[in-house]
Amino acid sequence: MTGAAGLHGRPGADIVIIGGGVIGLATALMLADQGTAVVVLERQLTGREASWAGAGMLPPGNLGGAATPEARLRSYSHSLWPALAARLRDQT
Ligand SMILES: Cc1cc2nc3c(=O)[nH]c(=O)nc-3n(C[C@H](O)[C@H](O)[C@H](O)COP(=O)(O)OP(=O)(O)OC[C@H]3O[C@@H](n4cnc5c(N)ncnc54)[C@H](O)[C@@H]3O)c2cc1C
Repeated sequence: MTGAAGLHGRPGADIVIIGGGVIGLATALMLADQGTAVVVLERQLTGREASWAGAGMLPPGNLGGAATPEARLRSYSHSLWPALAARLRDQT
């Protein structure tokens, strides 16, 4: 959506994300890191739906215990979490 103008008074956005849960917000953060202008549209409060209920488990914590490609992907996410959590604690 290059050139979108006048979205709630904001200048144009390259990407509009609908939904400010953990997926939308994390996607927006990563896009912004690359210099993309992002707008997140949330109908209520951010992070108060499924992301509010999530228990915070990212199993398996040990990559050696990952038996499938999908489990290996989850395990990789687990390894990325400490740095992301520290960044979010510092920036928010
Ligand atoms: C009880 C429970 C426990 C869980 N435990 C874990 C766990 O331990 N580990 C794990 O990895 N996952 C867990 N999950 C799953 C995890 O919470 C979800 O997969 C994740 O939060 C989904 O994020 P999301 O951003 O896609 O959705 P959401 O957090 O639901 O965000 C979607 C957002 O979109 C907004 N929205 C929807 N429609 C519109 C619209 N038309 N316009 C504007 N905004 C809109 C909503 O208001 C909401 O804020 C759990 C889920 C539940 C319910």
